[in-house]
Amino acid sequence: MAGEPQDDCLFCKIVAGTIPATIVRETETTVAFRDINPQAPTHVLVIPKAHYRDAAELAAHAPELAADVLRESAAVADEDKLDSYRTVFNTGSGAGQTVWHAHAHVLGGRGLNWPPG
Ligand code: IMP
Repeated sequence: MAGEPQDDCLFCKIVAGTIPATIVRETETTVAFRDINPQAPTHVLVIPKAHYRDAAELAAHAPELAADVLRESAAVADEDKLDSYRTVFNTGSGAGQTVWHAHAHVLGGRGLNWPPG
């Protein structure tokens, strides 16, 4: 069910502390940790602690929590002193989503082309 922890979810396991991660920020509702396969000097994932399968489900069921994720994404960029950065939510396998727990990628520290691939 939306919002409930899922036993088979990698990011729920990171929230629970049963899988290690390099955590850079944590709030009551969110965790931010370094991506294991970074695509830029700063590549941090910001996730809600509660489980929603993607950004659309998160926004529909818990808009305040979606705002927390965006606020924390900005805080990550601020901590890494990024003047410019990109916040990305891949939604659906065709867009490259591989982990089915909503997450924002925060990318920065190098030039970022537009449009993305
Ligand atoms: P997606 O492709 O938008 O779903 O992003 C999933 C991201 O999770 C990818 O950038 C992966 O590199 C990253 N990832 C997968 N497993 C781990 C992990 O255990 N720790 C940190 N990042 C991970």
